[in-house]
Amino acid sequence: MSDSALARDKADSLADLKELFQLPAGVVYLDGNSLGALPRAVTAAVKDVVEHQWGDDLITSWNAHDWIRLPNLVGEKLAPLIGAAPGQVLCSDSISVNLFKLLATAIELNTGRRIILAVDEDFPTDAYIAQGLSQMLGEDRCELRRVAAQDVQAALSDDVAVLMLTEVNYRSGERHDMQALTDAAHAAGALVLWDLAHSAGVLPIELDRRGVDLAVGCGYKYFNGGPGAPAFLYVNKRHHARARQPLSGWLGHQDPFAFASDYEAAGGVQHYQAGTPGIISMAALNAALDVFQRVSIEQLREKSLALTDFFIEGIETRGLLASLECITPREHHRRGSQVSLRYEHAWGLSQALIEAQVIVDFRATDIVRFGFSPLYNSFSDAQKALDVLEEILVKGLHLDDRFATRPTVT
Ligand SMILES: *Cc1c(COP(=O)(O)O)cnc(C)c1O
Repeated sequence: MSDSALARDKADSLADLKELFQLPAGVVYLDGNSLGALPRAVTAAVKDVVEHQWGDDLITSWNAHDWIRLPNLVGEKLAPLIGAAPGQVLCSDSISVNLFKLLATAIELNTGRRIILAVDEDFPTDAYIAQGLSQMLGEDRCELRRVAAQDVQAALSDDVAVLMLTEVNYRSGERHDMQALTDAAHAAGALVLWDLAHSAGVLPIELDRRGVDLAVGCGYKYFNGGPGAPAFLYVNKRHHARARQPLSGWLGHQDPFAFASDYEAAGGVQHYQAGTPGIISMAALNAALDVFQRVSIEQLREKSLALTDFFIEGIETRGLLASLECITPREHHRRGSQVSLRYEHAWGLSQALIEAQVIVDFRATDIVRFGFSPLYNSFSDAQKALDVLEEILVKGLHLDDRFATRPTVT
C-alpha cells in the first residue's frame, strides 16, 4: 500500500465509521451505489423484530412496537438528510411504485398539461413507469417526452406537466443542477420530480429550500437498508391540500380501522401508503439510518469527493486513460459519488476486478462503475482498486475466454 493512501486514511476523521459495518476481510467493496453494505446494528435490530416483536408479541406489536407508524417514523428520520421539514416524507414501496403515485399526482395537479419530460439517459424504470401511466390515461392526458440532458431547459414547453430527472445519473455519475432545473421548470409552469436514487445519503440535498415539488429515493443504495429495502417519497407541503394518487389502499384511508365501504384519503403524505408495509425490511432500514447520526452529510460529501478525486487522479497518473475513458465529470459540483469508466472490454474488466476481490459493477454496454461510499470506503480501498485495475490491464487478464459471454443479471 502506498504511503499516501495510508496517510490519507490516518488523517481521515471518518475512518472509524467503517467499524460500524460488516465487510468481508480482503474485499474492496465499491458497489454501495447498487447495494449498500450491512451496518452491524441491522443484524441485532432484525433479530429483535423477528424473535421478540413478531415471535413473542405477535399482533400486539402493531401498537406495542409502533409498527403501524414505522413508514412515518422512517420517513421523518430520512427527512433531514434530504432537506425536508417534518410531515412530507413517507417510507414506502419501491421507487418504481412511488414514481407511479407521484407522476399521477403531478398530471392531476397540473391540469391541462399532459407531458412528462425526462432525459434519454436516465435509469429505465423511470421512463417505463411514465409509459405505463400514459398507456392507462391515454396520450391525450399523459405522454412521455424524452430529450438529451443538455436540451432539457429548451424542451420546457407550455404542455409540460412535470419534469422528471435523476439528480445523479446512474451510468455516468454526472450530477444535475437541482436548483437551476427546478427554477426553469417552475418558470415554465411545470412541476418537478427528482429521483434521488444516486444522491440521497451521500451528498447534501435541500428539497424544501430549492422549492422541489416531488421526489423519490432508494433505501438499499447509500442508505444501506438491505436488499429490496423500501424506498421513500417526498411531497412538498404546499401541494398537500390538492395532491391525490391512484393506489387508494386501505392504509392510506383517513380511518383504516373504521373499515368504511368507501375511500376517503388521509391527509398529508399518509395517503401515499397503499397497503401493509414490510416491517422486517423497514426495521432494517430504520436501524441502518442510525449510522447517519454519527456524521453530517456535509462531512460525507467532503470525503466522497476526496475519494473519487484520489481515484481519478490515480487513473490519470498511471497513464490508464490511454485505454479507459473517464465519463464522470471532474468538476465537484457536477459529480456524484461514483467513477464510471468507459471501455471496449468493460464486461471482462468488471469480472476480472471482482475475481480479484474488488467488487464493482458493469452497466451495458461498455461501462464499469466504481461506487464510493464515504461511510465505509477508505483511501486504501481506492488504492487497491487502482493497483488491481492496472495489473489487469497490463497483463490482459480481462481478455480471458471465460469473460466472453455475459449472464442474464449483470
Ligand atoms: C436504483 C434505481 C431505481 C430502483 O427502482 P426500484 O423500483 O426501487 O427497484 C430507480 N431509479 C433509479 C434512478 C435508480 O438508480
